[in-house]
Amino acid sequence: MILYTVTGRVGEEGYLDIAKSGDLTGKNVYVNMTNKCPCSCVFCLRQTKKELEGNSLWLREGEPTVDEVMDLFGQYDLSVINELVFCGFGEPLERLYDVCSVIDRLKETYPGLKVRVNTIGLANLIYGKDVTPELEGRVDTISISLNAPEAEEFLEITRSSYGIQSYEAIKEFAVLAKQYVPNVVMTVVEQVMPEDKIERCRKICDELGVTLRVRPLES
Ligand code: SF4
Repeated sequence: MILYTVTGRVGEEGYLDIAKSGDLTGKNVYVNMTNKCPCSCVFCLRQTKKELEGNSLWLREGEPTVDEVMDLFGQYDLSVINELVFCGFGEPLERLYDVCSVIDRLKETYPGLKVRVNTIGLANLIYGKDVTPELEGRVDTISISLNAPEAEEFLEITRSSYGIQSYEAIKEFAVLAKQYVPNVVMTVVEQVMPEDKIERCRKICDELGVTLRVRPLES
């Protein structure tokens, strides 16, 4: 499933293929372009083979090309949607340049399209350079999973392939992104994180000058 909407329900039925999503007016449309991710978070459904095989967000046919994604978009009117969100079952910025191409091509038709990228924030380590300038004029909101108030816990949760440096890297990514993206948000998950840790995360975000979003478990 490459393009989908989210119903708000937990689990498989929480994701609805765009073809079955009916009227798209006011909805967020999600784009799922890769299975790749530098992390293997303890809570991620990717960790369970059974979940992977059963999950419609796993791209069984492999990653779609930019042209294939654009062909799919061609079937829908995006002028009525609320927001386009690059998200899915992998890390969207593993395909940064393809994501940029898709946004550029869509903005030719929909110059006012609002775009968000949900990311683990490790793109600068993936590419070995600062790629945040690529987000300018393309991305309106970047939402980075903070996951924890300190590096050790972040690594325990995400099992990032980049190791302990990952936590500093995501914070640096957030600060750099502020130059190019109007709305930089870091997220933690409600219910999963106790209140005192949420407060520590809030303080970190205040220091970084970004917004903390405490998101519900299922969103
Ligand atoms: S960063 Fe996201 S996609 Fe990657 S393992 Fe963690 S939860 Fe899953």
